[in-house]
Parts: sequence; C-alpha cells; structure tokens
Amino acid sequence: MKKIWLILLCTWQFIAFGQSNVQANWQQDVSYNIQVTLDDENHILNGQIDIGYTNNSPQTLNEVWIHLWPNAYKNNLTAFAKQQLENNSTSFYFAKPKARGYIDSLDFTVDAQSLKLTYHPEHVDLAKLTLNTPLKSGESIVISSPFRVKVPGSFSRMGHVRNSYQITQWFPKPAVYDVNGWNTMPYLDQGEFYSEFGSFNVSITVPQNYVVAATGVLQDSSEMDWLNDRITYYKGRGKREEDETASSALLKTLHFKQDKIHDFAWFADKEFFVFESKQTLSDSSATINTYLYSTNEYDKSAIQYVNQGVKFYSDKVGNYPYASASAVIGPLKAGGGMEYPMITVLASTDKTTIVHEVGHNWFYGIIGTNERNFPWMDESINTYYENRHSKSTKDVSDVFKPNYNSKYAAQDRFADGLSIVYANSLTRNTDQAIDLHSKDYTSSNYGGIIYGKGAYIFSLLQQFLGDSLFDSAMQNFYEEWKFKTSFTR
Ligand SMILES: [Zn+2]
Repeated sequence: MKKIWLILLCTWQFIAFGQSNVQANWQQDVSYNIQVTLDDENHILNGQIDIGYTNNSPQTLNEVWIHLWPNAYKNNLTAFAKQQLENNSTSFYFAKPKARGYIDSLDFTVDAQSLKLTYHPEHVDLAKLTLNTPLKSGESIVISSPFRVKVPGSFSRMGHVRNSYQITQWFPKPAVYDVNGWNTMPYLDQGEFYSEFGSFNVSITVPQNYVVAATGVLQDSSEMDWLNDRITYYKGRGKREEDETASSALLKTLHFKQDKIHDFAWFADKEFFVFESKQTLSDSSATINTYLYSTNEYDKSAIQYVNQGVKFYSDKVGNYPYASASAVIGPLKAGGGMEYPMITVLASTDKTTIVHEVGHNWFYGIIGTNERNFPWMDESINTYYENRHSKSTKDVSDVFKPNYNSKYAAQDRFADGLSIVYANSLTRNTDQAIDLHSKDYTSSNYGGIIYGKGAYIFSLLQQFLGDSLFDSAMQNFYEEWKFKTSFTR
C-alpha cells in the first residue's frame, strides 16, 4: 500500500497478538474453488466457495477461524468504521444503508454436515467455525459455503462507483494458523494483512460487456480474443464517453487459475481500456505479460512503469515467478495504491506509486509476511527498492525526490514528504524503532518511520555492505522465504 502521508493522518487500533521469534518448518495449505456472479443492478455478489484446508501443523485443530472481511462495512461498530471516525473521515459513518456492505447467506459445511459458526464477540468480520470432527495433523478437509456479498460504496479497498467494481477482501478466508496459533484480525483501512499460501480456481460470471481484470491467469481463449479485439479497437479512440454503456443481458463466465499465491482480487468495468505489453526478464528465462486497465486512454503510457517494476525487482531481488502483472487505475479510497498478487489497483498513474505497488509482488505477495505485526517487512523494504528504482531512472518528475547517496544527502533526504514527516518526529523527540507492531506507531510515524526511516536504513545498509553483497544477501533472503508465511522456514 502506498500512503500519502502528508495528507493522511490517522490513529491505529489493532488486535495485538503474542509475538514469537520461533519459526516452523510447516505451513498450512489452502486451495480455493470459488464461483461468483455479479449482480450489477443491486451491487451484489452471489457465490459458492470450497476451501480445501490441509493441517500441516503438529497440532489437532478443533476450530478454524474465518475472516469475513466484507462485514467491516456493515455498521458503525466495526473496527474499520471506528478507525475511519478516529481518522476524521465521516463519509462511512454517515453512509446510507444502501452504500454499506456485508457478507451473509453463509452455511459452512464439511462433508455436507453443517458447522457451528460463532462470530467474534467484538468483530463481526471474524468468526470461528467449530469442526464436527477434529482435524488431525496431516489431515485435509473441504469447507464449503454459499455466500452473498453486498458490495459497499467506495470507502476503502472493496467497493463500487456506479458500475465500476473493485472486488478485494471479498470471500470467506481462513486466518493464518502458525506457530503463534490463529492470527485473527479485523479489517482495517490502515493496517494490512497476513494470509496462507495456496491455489485459487475462480469462476467469475458477469454481463458480457464487462472487462474483468484479476489475479491469476485467464483460462478462456474466447475471452482473450475478445480482449485482443478490444485492445485493437481502442487504439486511438480517445477518452470514454461520459454515459456508461448499458449492461449486456447475456452473461459470460471467466475462469482464473493460479498456484502459490495468498489472495485473489478482481476488478470489473464496462469502460476499461486494456493496454498490454511484455517484459522479458534479464536472463531471458521468461517474458511477463503486462496489462494496464483504465477508463482513460491517456493513461496508457503508464504501462511502462509496470514493466519497469517487474524488471527492476526481478534484477535486484529475484525473478518474477508468475505469467502476468497488471495494474488497474480505479476509484481507490485507501491511500494511493493497494497491492494484490499479480495485480495492483492505483488511484493515479504516478510512476513511483506504480513501481511501489508492483514491487509488493515481492514484499507481500511472494514473501508473505505478517504485515500487521511487522509492517517494516513489506513497507520499509519495498519503499527502499522503490526509492532505488526512482534514483536509477531519475527524470523530470523526480527532481524533488531525495538522493540518498549524494554528498549532500542530509539536505536531499528531507526533500520528500516522508522525510519531512520523519524529521518532524525527530524534532519532537517522538522517533521510534522500525521493527514495532503497527499498533505501536502513531499515524504520522507509520508513514515517516515505516516508509521513510525504514527505507533510509536499508539504503544505509546497502552503502555499508556495498551493492554486490547487499543484493546477494537480499537474493538469498528471497530464495529462502519465497512462498512462505513469515514464521515458516
Ligand atoms: Zn506499500
């Protein structure tokens, strides 16, 4: 996620977990089969989910905790709603019922036997499933449920603006079970996530004239042909018309598949322009298909930043392991951008934001740390690489960006917003370490320290070790930890 820290000031409220440095040589395995249909008249998703869950832990599990993220938008008592109010954002607090969101129609079963669902006493976006038969170490079950999601208006990461849909944190999802037990957390706008790795097989049914951008690889050749026609058709067409096209009465079902990922997001809009490109990795081992989706044709040149991000992080950290990388320019209401595996949504075509969000494929997507407990492990490291990329491709838009290696670094360093926020904490004697839990930071320190100071410390480490040793250390880190949750070796 990329925050605009001089504008966004916030307060943090989190559930705290016991911390442990113990690591395990196991992690749970989750495989999702999801069928979902978009009702774009009522802004509702009707779905069915089958969650294959393998207990690789040494313990027997009597329960499985499930995140029901859409319930964050249900009422003014959720952790999300309270945090919005504390951050002086009243738009959700005063939102009309039809603009709110929720998930319902749940009926969890294993082997056609219903499971008892107990909501968390405080957080309606979190529930405990009591298993009828304890799940022993090494055993697998399939947990199934229908679900219905009312898509809220655009207040955070999931939402819609008219018929432009941003479908994220949308399906029932098991919390991570690791050496610390169940990692349960309510949805927050300012506070990120922790997820189990697994496979996704998702079928999305929408009216035929929607363009769908999603995590994973599209399996339908007829849809690829349709998109290719659209890519050709839109060349030189100009900006979209103001009035939205009516939805087709005919539906289409699209299939997306992907292994070794820990989340799935999709975006649907009838007015998307689709731009495509390719980026070959430096060692020629793969060519990545890159896509940019936007309702404004003039955004198309921003696809070069997706390519730059894929190439830069592949060169410096490790090769991008998936077939495609996409960016969606959409009506995001959670900072400047938000990352999901293989796809990112952005509020603008700003180069550094796109490179930052694409970079989260490495530090969030491939190395799946607990972002809420250890925010530096995604944001500090990722912002360090974003800054390094920015410095390596300095152009007119970067004039006001810091140059950490400059002889005049001290003054350069304070030229950007994050550094100003960090300098402010220094002068007020409110500096903090970079390795604290998200909840331990004030909102301005979260920006100034996690993004600003944390990234700067990594640049000092780079200078201290030298590029070659620093890069090889990070490449080893990537190889050792890719596709693992943060407590797993
Ligand atoms: Zn970020």
